[in-house]
Amino acid sequence: TIGMVGIDGDGNLAGSCTTSGLKFKMHGRVGDSPIIGAGLYVDNEVGAATATGMGETIIKVCGSFLIVELMRQGRTPQEACEEAIDRLLQKTPFETDSELQVGFLAIDKNGDHGAYAVQSGFTYAIHHQEGNSIENSDCR
Ligand code: ASP
Repeated sequence: TIGMVGIDGDGNLAGSCTTSGLKFKMHGRVGDSPIIGAGLYVDNEVGAATATGMGETIIKVCGSFLIVELMRQGRTPQEACEEAIDRLLQKTPFETDSELQVGFLAIDKNGDHGAYAVQSGFTYAIHHQEGNSIENSDCR
């Protein structure tokens, strides 16, 4: 999945999300990416969030919508991403040797961002006026 969230010079938020789906998926499977609220959610009054990884687990918690709602309640993007991963793991118990991976990325109305994943390896790019950078998200 490639998920993008952004804010323009006037403070307007936007997001997009595209995927090839999971490898070896069942014919007809619908993942989280095309479901608004699961793989992507943008509320121009609050923030935007997107997701990658095992879509079935993201759908169960309406992951991107959950993150935006947590930001609406006052969480930072980072706090909201971490809380969403906690919620997701409550619904999908995580075996330490499992390959389950989910990563969330969020931005708020101030342009602050956050990211968090179940496991290491969730890397994301930031573009802003001062330049570009590559970040490795924290993980569980
Ligand atoms: N989230 C996508 C899906 O479940 C897969 C991915 O992130 O690669 O369809």
